[in-house]
Amino acid sequence: MEVLFIVLAIVVIALFAIAGLVAAPVRRRRARIRTTTAPRLATPPPEVSSPPLPAEAVVPTSGLDVPDPTAGRLIRLRGRLARSHNALGRSLLTVLSRDHLDEEAWQEIEDTLLTADMGVNAAGELVSALKDRVRVLGVRTPAQLRTLLRDELLAQVGTSTDRGLVTAAHDGHPAIILVVGVNGTGKTTTCGKLARVLVADGRTVLLGAADTFRAAAADQLQTWGDRVGAHTVRGPEGGDPASVAFDAVQRGNVQGVDTVVIDTAGRLHTKTGLMDQLGKVKRVVEKQFPVDETLLVLDATTGQNGVIQARVFTEVVKVTGIVLTKLDGTAKGGIVVSVQQALGIPVKLIGLGEGPDDLAPFDAEAFVDALLGEPTAISPPPAGTR
Ligand code: GDP
Repeated sequence: MEVLFIVLAIVVIALFAIAGLVAAPVRRRRARIRTTTAPRLATPPPEVSSPPLPAEAVVPTSGLDVPDPTAGRLIRLRGRLARSHNALGRSLLTVLSRDHLDEEAWQEIEDTLLTADMGVNAAGELVSALKDRVRVLGVRTPAQLRTLLRDELLAQVGTSTDRGLVTAAHDGHPAIILVVGVNGTGKTTTCGKLARVLVADGRTVLLGAADTFRAAAADQLQTWGDRVGAHTVRGPEGGDPASVAFDAVQRGNVQGVDTVVIDTAGRLHTKTGLMDQLGKVKRVVEKQFPVDETLLVLDATTGQNGVIQARVFTEVVKVTGIVLTKLDGTAKGGIVVSVQQALGIPVKLIGLGEGPDDLAPFDAEAFVDALLGEPTAISPPPAGTR
């Protein structure tokens, strides 16, 4: 009887022990769920007021686009430039090939350069340099003239300018690229294309949709990002752009990406409020890490107006490079020279179409060759006239 009682007691104790073992993980799991959800309810820091972001990037990993590497991309896209800009090179070479290069001819050359938006200073410098060299060297064959013109155009565009972009993680954090400019210039599209350029060159990218004023901008950016596996951090419509930018940098750092690209709002650039907003975005981001590149997007078709717009931005943020978009749709390639001279900032990327891979690192030689067209395009003057 006594033995039976002891056995019963052991069985009861064992049953309690088993029940306890089963219940413990359930309790732990409940506790874990509470810990991860708790911060979402907490009030974020004052500058970071957007709602909490999903913990994991929800970017599909299969079926992603694999863009071609960007090396030589401008050479591949040369046809785009040539289509609209060939006329510039052709008319310059036609005038240069005349028997007599009198003042009227030189004026015609200068006017052609001005029409192509080269700017008064650059056009004047180019004509006087050409004049001197034609006189001193006495060159007159089409090939020689083309070489002279190419040299002088290259000198104006700048071959030794540093056009590199900081895109690799450094000092233990991602590179940060801020993209600014007036809305409609192609800013969001450029962020998307830039993500592709970076992915093509082997970088991992996170996008920050800090243009919270334009309803469709975040969706547009996310669509670009999803295509190449770049997660997009976004906030509520009309939310604080600085907060989204801050979150993007924080998330990019946690995820260990190479580059964080932040799109910003660009409406009403003349309004002090918006410029203050842009300054705040930069300051808030820099509470974590310095911004490596601030790229100003300019629409090449807006010509000198674009240059005036650009000045407003350079007063608020330190612009490190220009992205000149829509060069496929204008014959005003001279804007590359005038914008660089006016702002003292290099053109680093150019947009040559609406296609996903129509953004190319700027290459002075490929650009000038596209302006001049094929060397055979000019027929030599009749024999005996030189
Ligand atoms: P945002 O308001 O500055 O962000 O401008 P979007 O990125 O929305 O672009 C405005 C329009 O310009 C869109 O229709 C783009 O497809 C177009 N766009 C952008 N870059 C280029 C380019 O290099 N060439 C051409 N032809 N269109 C462009």
